[in-house]
Amino acid sequence: MNAKPSEMLLCPCCGERRAVADTRLLQAEAEWLATGAIDTRRPPGWSVEEARAGQCQWACIRCFETGQALEGRPALQMWCDSSPYFAFLDTEHQCIDCGQRFVFAAAEQRFWYETLQFWVQSRPKRCIPCRRARRARRRIARQEQVRRQQQNQTVPSTAVPDTSIASRDEQFEREN
Ligand SMILES: [Zn+2]
Ligand SMILES: [Zn+2]
Repeated sequence: MNAKPSEMLLCPCCGERRAVADTRLLQAEAEWLATGAIDTRRPPGWSVEEARAGQCQWACIRCFETGQALEGRPALQMWCDSSPYFAFLDTEHQCIDCGQRFVFAAAEQRFWYETLQFWVQSRPKRCIPCRRARRARRRIARQEQVRRQQQNQTVPSTAVPDTSIASRDEQFEREN
């Protein structure tokens, strides 16, 4: 094993030095292995190695207990070349539509990556109001398409249920 439980790591969330034993890195790794995942590029202790190198997002147990970070479970996430999330922290992004900065909240991230199982490298491009406006525009366009098809009976309807990422993302806003 490449990781000693006594090794100290700097928590990227609270900035305190924590022993590996005071993190859930190795447990998360074991949980992931228990799913039957085999990745020869990632030897035992890879999570600690990535944390040491600043290559993954993680936090100490204290940060989970105080709510500064939400615990991530790599075993539930879709990842392969990119590192999974061992912790979720609020992050800021710029909306491509209105240009405003917006927060991608830790709870929303967990929903994206562990419930909806979006690839871990995917990020929201728009703020929530712009996502809503975009969905509304698309909904109107779909309704208009259906209306036109109904007027022209010779063309069979191609309207399909909306199962796009946008509509699944909308689920989060309804449920939270
Ligand atoms: Zn911490
Ligand atoms: Zn926006």
